[in-house]
Amino acid sequence: MSEKTFAELGLDPAVLEAVRTVGYETPSPIQAQAIPVLLEGHHLLGIAQTGTGKTAAFALPLLSRIDADDLSTQILVLTPTRELAIQVAEAFTTYASGFRQLHVLPIYGGADFAPQLKALNRGSQVIVGTPGRLLDHLRRGKLKLNNLKALVLDEADEMLRMGFIDDVEAILASTPDSCQRALFSATMPPAIARVANTYLSDAREVKIKSETRTVERIAQFVLPTFGERKLDALTRILEVEPIDAAIIFVRTKAETTLLAEKLAARGHSVAPLNGDLNQRQREQTVEDLKRGKKDLLIATDVAARGLDVPRITHVINYDVPYDSEAYIHRVGRTGRAGRAGKAILLVTPRERSWLRTLERATNSPMEPYELPTPAALQKLRQEQFESQLMGFTEDGKLAKAMGLLDDIAERNDMDMAMLAGALACWMESAQPGSLPLETPSELPIPSANPPRGKGGPGGKRSNFRKGGPGGKPGGYRGNKPGGKPGSRPAGKRDGFKPAKSRQAD
Ligand code: AMP
Repeated sequence: MSEKTFAELGLDPAVLEAVRTVGYETPSPIQAQAIPVLLEGHHLLGIAQTGTGKTAAFALPLLSRIDADDLSTQILVLTPTRELAIQVAEAFTTYASGFRQLHVLPIYGGADFAPQLKALNRGSQVIVGTPGRLLDHLRRGKLKLNNLKALVLDEADEMLRMGFIDDVEAILASTPDSCQRALFSATMPPAIARVANTYLSDAREVKIKSETRTVERIAQFVLPTFGERKLDALTRILEVEPIDAAIIFVRTKAETTLLAEKLAARGHSVAPLNGDLNQRQREQTVEDLKRGKKDLLIATDVAARGLDVPRITHVINYDVPYDSEAYIHRVGRTGRAGRAGKAILLVTPRERSWLRTLERATNSPMEPYELPTPAALQKLRQEQFESQLMGFTEDGKLAKAMGLLDDIAERNDMDMAMLAGALACWMESAQPGSLPLETPSELPIPSANPPRGKGGPGGKRSNFRKGGPGGKPGGYRGNKPGGKPGSRPAGKRDGFKPAKSRQAD
């Protein structure tokens, strides 16, 4: 991560306020490099893929330079897909929340013309769209670019691959000469280099570092998951992994507290670690982890820098890192003091290109992480329930409790099994999910194929082999429920409060 703060980059105060609200702690490397360049008005060539924070890298400085009182189109972003157009438009709306009147309009093919025309007539300072439909509106005279201040080509190599390059060039040719231009691309094929040479002469180039370092003693795994099922995936990982202590990386300060709250509600001994904590609080949190008072930390990159706690057995990348350097730092939090460690990366379908980048950076392949099948998970939960129950057979209060229940059973003509069942149901109503009654559902795993068929990291290298059953490495192998309740992994519940309810399933 960068040493500079957002406040030091020279962004408009309204934009800065939005960044604060959204909870970004520090600029990602691509942001730290691109923001000053774009604020100074230069053309920019950015070699960056999804997940690096590239959207904010162009949106924040460009928004800082527009005249919000002028309703004409000032920023135009071209994206290869409708999904990305919507995502980028949403990001702009978030970053523009501090402006009094700022309209962001997504425009893409396959949707009705009428609402788009109406919105275009109303006027939007920022338009984000796919090239074909934008060109249509441009040719009909509905999209006016005479006042355009900045044009961004997002995921230019994807636009080329999808056959949009002629449309892109036609749009580029219709923009004023004075217009600032930024081109972001994960790769630089010759056709894109030619566009860059023609339309972005003298562009400043920014690139994220691709650090390479072998990560010894750390077994690396990847679990493809849908964004909305990440929490479910994480809770299952925590259930089955033999964790002593783990650090879970997320992107924002807000997410550290949110996720910590959710995991605490499921019975985990967890604390957030973020830049909002002062030095003393941070030291205390790390000390709690060292001494076993906490077992899980939910951290941002900055807050976890240099963390050295030998009992960390696992690093879970809940959100993908910004670059390989950050990844290497993160996974280096485990495998300390000569011990072995395990790193698990969750990737959503859009982020799968990270896989190859990170494998290259660490010089080692990532194994597919296999979650247990619902039946295996259920069996495990039942065994854990039993082993926790057994942990109370020598409890000091057992004799008194038995006496109390004996009396109740006699008075009500119940046998002990029925009474025990009633007690278990009580526990379940107090803490839903604590009784392993229902078999959990199967977690949907994104398709093994890369988005639009081409041989990406998933396909050819078969790194995205289907998750799910199968005895292969990863997952929960060798993680039999601990016999002694006291020696249970951190991911597991404390004492007899099998407090970790399973609402996420
Ligand atoms: P992108 O590479 O633009 O697709 O961004 C990937 C994700 O990173 C998005 O969910 C952003 O909200 C998030 N993000 C971007 N910049 C930052 C930052 N400086 N700190 C934390 N999260 C960020």
